[in-house]
Amino acid sequence: MSEKDAGNSRGLRVDHIAIAVKNLDESLKFYKDQFGLEVIDIEVVEEQGVRVAKLDVGNTHIELLEPLSDDTPVGKFIAQRGPGLHHICLGVNNIECELNKLKANSTKLIDETPRIGAGGARIAFVHPKATNGVLMELSEWPEGTSGAPD
Ligand code: ZN
Repeated sequence: MSEKDAGNSRGLRVDHIAIAVKNLDESLKFYKDQFGLEVIDIEVVEEQGVRVAKLDVGNTHIELLEPLSDDTPVGKFIAQRGPGLHHICLGVNNIECELNKLKANSTKLIDETPRIGAGGARIAFVHPKATNGVLMELSEWPEGTSGAPD
């Protein structure tokens, strides 16, 4: 049995934890200087209105999300609640399968069908009302790739 199958039968794992920040460069400096975390990648995801920095934390990532403008989802989030935990992403083996199960149970979803997220993963968001207040992202990497650094 491989390591990623351990613990739960469907192979779910924490792909990343995303934190909304006002200033990406200042936040990166903090995580580098205080925790020694390395930046894997910085990417602008226009569709979601964010600049994303991915930090290596072993088997998972921390993503820092800086809004491209105030009228983006992350910009509105920061205006309402301040910087902080934005979402947790679960890596899944089959995103359609997971979405179908959630839909069958009438779980409140933001995305009924997958879309393309940072790095080319197929992603969908589950509404925080369904998950006790935390926005939950599901992510399936293309065949043969993985979000984790090897
Ligand atoms: Zn994410």
